[in-house]
Amino acid sequence: MPSYPGRVSATRAEGNALPLHYDWGMNAILTESTLTCPECGQASTEAMPTDACQWFYDCRHCGALLKPKPGDCCVFCSWGDVPCPPVQAGGGGACCTGAA
Ligand SMILES: [Zn+2]
Repeated sequence: MPSYPGRVSATRAEGNALPLHYDWGMNAILTESTLTCPECGQASTEAMPTDACQWFYDCRHCGALLKPKPGDCCVFCSWGDVPCPPVQAGGGGACCTGAA
């Protein structure tokens, strides 16, 4: 289980105000995200594919089918605490939809 990135980005202690996920995004792509189900409120940590976006996710607690919110590229960006790997690498949601 990897540590949560936002709290361990001390590799660059320059005191800048960049969002933490950009700070570590250059070095490490997180491949796990904790999805919080909007139906039942339960969270589960799931592995993310690194080369594609996942549009659908079945909640393992209540079975709800999660889909991305409008404007988000995948369920991890909408419901997870870590955005999907392409977004981590490139910033913004340019990984698969082309939508700005
Ligand atoms: Zn659920």
